[in-house]
Amino acid sequence: MLAVRNLEVVYNDVILVLRGVSLDVPEGQIVALLGANGAGKTTLLRAVSGLLDLHDGEVTKGSVTMDGKPIHEANPTAIVSLGIKQVLEGRRIFAELTVDENLRIGGHTSPKNIKQNLDRVYGLFPALRGRERATAGYLSGGEQQMLAMGRALMSNPRLLLLDEPSLGLAPLLVGQIKDLIVEINKQGTTVLLVEQNATMALSIAQHGYVLENGKVVMDKPADELLADSDIQEFYLGLGAEGAAKSFREVKHYKRRKRWLS
Ligand code: ATP
Repeated sequence: MLAVRNLEVVYNDVILVLRGVSLDVPEGQIVALLGANGAGKTTLLRAVSGLLDLHDGEVTKGSVTMDGKPIHEANPTAIVSLGIKQVLEGRRIFAELTVDENLRIGGHTSPKNIKQNLDRVYGLFPALRGRERATAGYLSGGEQQMLAMGRALMSNPRLLLLDEPSLGLAPLLVGQIKDLIVEINKQGTTVLLVEQNATMALSIAQHGYVLENGKVVMDKPADELLADSDIQEFYLGLGAEGAAKSFREVKHYKRRKRWLS
């Protein structure tokens, strides 16, 4: 479905952020993209959704294709019309508008199916049902994340790009968001999931990619990544024996990452 090949992205004509990234998102799957702050995950999503321009970024090499069709030079509207929708990091909702208005804005590209899509979204997110007239800015963090995802689903996308949906949420809510992603995927939407919460992402993805300094350093089936000792040590905060490590130990790791040697 989505294929990224040798992608190079530069900001402000000089800052090289993606350095030859290749990645595949097959139809029907959940694919996880992991990596620390600043690795380039959001930049990759921007390249797919056509939002680089807005940030003074540019694809300088490589390609992004959807069903074989190049999209790295297409504008965001054309990309949405191909069925690709991104949920931005930080739950960008229209805070002054109601829940219902936020969702209807998300559905403006498929006005004929608004009723059907609203029913689907309220079915997926019962927490939003009954709050249709509530001002979005007053929702809790978890509800705002659900609203942001719901708004994206209003155009019934084939491919949903999620940028750190669990960021800043309490563990119980992270669990809910995780179940929702699985349900959305079951209903037929392919998902590219960017996460720093590697445990959450790998527990629901079929395949995972690890991005560091703008390069893919590991790419494996999700269960193999979960079992990988380097991933456990550097991304899951576990020691070699699987015991939880303190944040300090993880941060100041002594061993070099195998993929850097
Ligand atoms: P985070 O989890 O912090 O969002 P990330 O992996 O998504 O991290 P990006 O946001 O893609 O990383 O950022 C990758 C690098 O690109 C960082 O060094 C960042 O400072 C830089 N960068 C991002 N946006 C811009 C921009 N508009 N102009 C210049 N540099 C940028």
